Amino acid sequence: MKKSKRRVRPRAIFCLIAISIFIIAAVWLLFDKLIFVNEAPIITLKADVIIIDEGTSFHAEQYITSVEDFNGNALSLSKQEHKKGTYWISGNVDINKQGVYRVIVYALDHKDNQAEKILTVTVENKKTSSPVSKPNTVDKSENKGNEEQKPSNIDSGGYDSSIDPNDCEPYYVNGILLVNKLHPLPPSYGELDDEAAQALEKLQTAANNAGYSIPTLSAYRSYDYQGTLYNNYVALDGQEAADTYSARPGFSEHQSGLAFDVGELSYDYGETEAGKWLHQHCHEYGFIIRYPRDKEKITGYVYEPWHIRYVGKSTAKKIYQKGVTLEEYLGVN
Ligand SMILES: [Zn+2]
Repeated sequence: MKKSKRRVRPRAIFCLIAISIFIIAAVWLLFDKLIFVNEAPIITLKADVIIIDEGTSFHAEQYITSVEDFNGNALSLSKQEHKKGTYWISGNVDINKQGVYRVIVYALDHKDNQAEKILTVTVENKKTSSPVSKPNTVDKSENKGNEEQKPSNIDSGGYDSSIDPNDCEPYYVNGILLVNKLHPLPPSYGELDDEAAQALEKLQTAANNAGYSIPTLSAYRSYDYQGTLYNNYVALDGQEAADTYSARPGFSEHQSGLAFDVGELSYDYGETEAGKWLHQHCHEYGFIIRYPRDKEKITGYVYEPWHIRYVGKSTAKKIYQKGVTLEEYLGVN
């Protein structure tokens, strides 16, 4: 009797523990499913940014991979807004008018958790944008572009001669404004960006605290002012040389109000202690070195250790960590 009692007891304890674990796990799972989950639904898009040709059809649903609540249950598409357990699409794209449009996908699960995701749609004019919508993959992936692989309407200065700043729209990719030799700004565009200016002040204060001075040498430049500068350089150096270091009016990033020249206008600036500090820390304040060394084929400009561009902290950090140009980061020319 004694022996059998002793043998049963450990087994009973084991069973009790196993049952307890099972009950705790079941209750935990139940609570997790029913009570504690307040996480937003998950909207997955095929792309955040799409470019379509003017006049082609567009249906936002085709760019949605899935919309699910946090437990993985699919939500259904609804024509009605704010309906529980569904998602709906807001925003119009005029396929007959070139421009940048925002389409927003909203989701609402059964527990009132909401989510939204933006799809940026660029409708491009075929006539002016064909070299852009068919990017030169050689130029994009590796720094090996050469004359034969460039679209035929790229002139000796690296500009697309078919693009007229007087007849263009600011070019946004994933919400980020891109200004380069293929994407100019119209003459009326631009002013100093407040957020960028404030970020620059913070950057300069931090530099001072680290023992360096990085004064602002140039900030916002209007279309007309850039035209005067460029023409002066052409008169001085000739167009071919001027094109390597000065932008034609409409094509300068300074017109965006997001670009600044700081420190020293010297190609050796990147080797100075202040220039190195700028290179290593500007991303912490939302800036990137816009024209890095050995990336001329991609950016269209020689290395400019003094020219910084505001893109916001999270984007700047990613670009810095990946060691890429803005064009490479955005995946466009
Ligand atoms: Zn500059």
